[in-house]
Amino acid sequence: MSFLTCYRQYNWNSIQSDIYQKTPADVERVLSKRGSRTLEDFKILVSPAADCYLKEMAAISRLLTRQRFGNIVQMYIPLYLSNECTNSCKYCGFSKKNEIPRITLSIDQVLSEANVIKNMGFEHVLLVSGESKTVDVDYLKTCINILQPHFANISIEVPPLEQVHYESLIEAGLHAVYIYQETYGPEYSIFHPKGKKSDFNYRLLTPDRLGAAGVYKMGLGFLIGLDDWRTDAWFMAAHLDYLVKTHWRSKYCISFPRLRAAAGNFRPPIEISDRQLVQLICAYRIFDENVELSLSTRETELFRDHVFQLGITAMSAGSKTSPGGYSLFNDILDQFQVEDLRTPEQVTAMISAKGYKPVWKDWFRM
Ligand code: SF4
Repeated sequence: MSFLTCYRQYNWNSIQSDIYQKTPADVERVLSKRGSRTLEDFKILVSPAADCYLKEMAAISRLLTRQRFGNIVQMYIPLYLSNECTNSCKYCGFSKKNEIPRITLSIDQVLSEANVIKNMGFEHVLLVSGESKTVDVDYLKTCINILQPHFANISIEVPPLEQVHYESLIEAGLHAVYIYQETYGPEYSIFHPKGKKSDFNYRLLTPDRLGAAGVYKMGLGFLIGLDDWRTDAWFMAAHLDYLVKTHWRSKYCISFPRLRAAAGNFRPPIEISDRQLVQLICAYRIFDENVELSLSTRETELFRDHVFQLGITAMSAGSKTSPGGYSLFNDILDQFQVEDLRTPEQVTAMISAKGYKPVWKDWFRM
């Protein structure tokens, strides 16, 4: 049994049609429920009918978050290892079709970046790269080994690997893996026409390989703006539901990457408003009170300052989205545009001013 078996039982068009037929009475019924909500309930929470109930959804989401997580917000920062990539995802600044300077950081350069990040106060670093021969398992393992003494918590967001590779990275000290399906919809192959990433099933089964490898935490996400966000959200909720029941030893986190402009003049085919993004965040919290929810600097200062209080448990700050962006180069193109340009100090001051506690370290590796 794998998620692919579950996935094949669902039909994109009929799930989408179900979501769009929900009524205000359905929303009132789900919001008045006590205890856990089902996947059928999730269709209602992300439906157009729920838009008029955003205030009620936000209140429930906020309450559930305070009950389960208290008033903490975990702080993390990405460290881009490489912008080399053999794929040509249509929405990405690092697509091999874009003629930009390419680099994979040497180990000394990784340490130089880490030094700047450490001085900002971060204990949780997320290593990011495209798909290339230069970023193989040995390179990742070396990065984890040299960063271990400096950080409490090291995660990766890199192309999918085999179970045995995850096992060796976990052995080296890897804490979490973030792997986004991008879209669960029928247009996946249009956005990922070539390269390894065009293999939809291999990507879809990555969380199963991670669960089998025994990873501590997995991060899920879909690119908001590639296809109908309500339907993609439901498929990801189904994926989360399956994973929580199957790989129950792992913890889960959901991110909300809203598509931004990138090199190559890509324009997201679907627009999602701020209000709709709030609905999406609240829907996941009401569906699963244990899942961590993360909001990155892709979102504006104004949006983050208000919305993090409704259910978010992790935030990045001071992020650069290019390799060497913290200490080495300022002329390499970013993977995507960052909207919140504040320093970590400014972001954590805002979090504290709103009565929350920014947490730099919540893990100690013996
Ligand atoms: S999204 Fe990832 S795999 Fe696709 S082009 Fe960008 S870096 Fe490469």
